[in-house]
Amino acid sequence: MNDSTFHKENARLGFVGLGLMGSRFLRRLNSEGWKIRGWNRSRSATTLALRNDGLEIDETIASLAGQSEVLLSSLADDNAVRAVYLGDDGIFAHLQPGTTILEMSTISPELSALLHQEATQRDAKMIDLAVSGSTPAVEAGAVTLFGGGEPATFNRCVPIFQSIARQWYLMGPATAGIRMKLVVNLLLGVNMEAIAEAVSLGERLSLDRDVLLDVLPKTAVIAPAFSGKFPKIKGGDYSPQFPLHLMSKDMNLVQDAAIRLGAALPAASATRRVFEDAAAERGELDLSAITPYVLELAVPGVDHH
Ligand code: NAP
Repeated sequence: MNDSTFHKENARLGFVGLGLMGSRFLRRLNSEGWKIRGWNRSRSATTLALRNDGLEIDETIASLAGQSEVLLSSLADDNAVRAVYLGDDGIFAHLQPGTTILEMSTISPELSALLHQEATQRDAKMIDLAVSGSTPAVEAGAVTLFGGGEPATFNRCVPIFQSIARQWYLMGPATAGIRMKLVVNLLLGVNMEAIAEAVSLGERLSLDRDVLLDVLPKTAVIAPAFSGKFPKIKGGDYSPQFPLHLMSKDMNLVQDAAIRLGAALPAASATRRVFEDAAAERGELDLSAITPYVLELAVPGVDHH
């Protein structure tokens, strides 16, 4: 760390996109003592609750961008990021030279590269800062961050990372963070779908459902990221932490990269189709809702009763 490092005593932060992740990052940074404001496309129940709790929410991107030395963003997908950054009244139309951008959405590496280019042209600094960990991890300040960009910019932001994350890695130059995120989310998606299939098989093998769901997360084959999903599956609670439609979007990003680069990913490709079909009917539920979806899939010609 050096003198140009951001400190909570004087740095001014702005957070763009106050959905499941962004609203929690905003609250977390505020409670850690950072001076932070927010902006969201729509006036949702979430933004109202944030205002009621005394957080400052700007009406326009221009106002937020004008008051922020560091702009963080967590937006749904490529379309949202394009609209918010590249739109006529978007971030790049109002960016102050010298601003540091921490872009945390899971988007395509191509769009991330374009944002880096646009930022550089405006004399701004940018790190693509992909997030691993869901809403409970954001609340606990325990996510993992994968960064892409210049080491000096990354290092200036370490005090911000300390307030929201358990660990942070500079993966390489521009877009390396988002590229790493695709690698990690391939594992997240394929594993979640494999768990759904394992539960489906276990139930058909006549194992007691509750015992199955209690014991599976105690085995070494279930990664820590999934242990919290089992009590929820048991109780049929699929309220979203990471919505299924976003997992489906991420599997599409994985597939696009694989096709472009000539990587054969047979399991990821099959998983992508399952998430796409499931998202069409239960996309707003948590990704763990893939479990009842797979359970309900019928095998043609087999009598299930
Ligand atoms: P979310 O709750 O659906 O929030 C999405 C945000 O994007 C909202 O603020 C939404 O604004 C905004 N948005 C969507 N379309 C827009 C548009 N066209 N123009 C402007 N704003 C738009 O999603 P989330 O779970 O917070 O996820 C945010 C990002 O983090 C995603 O890229 C996701 O893949 C990634 N991520 C999520 C998790 C997780 O566990 N949830 C974990 C790691 C990474 P409105 O309120 O106006 O719709």
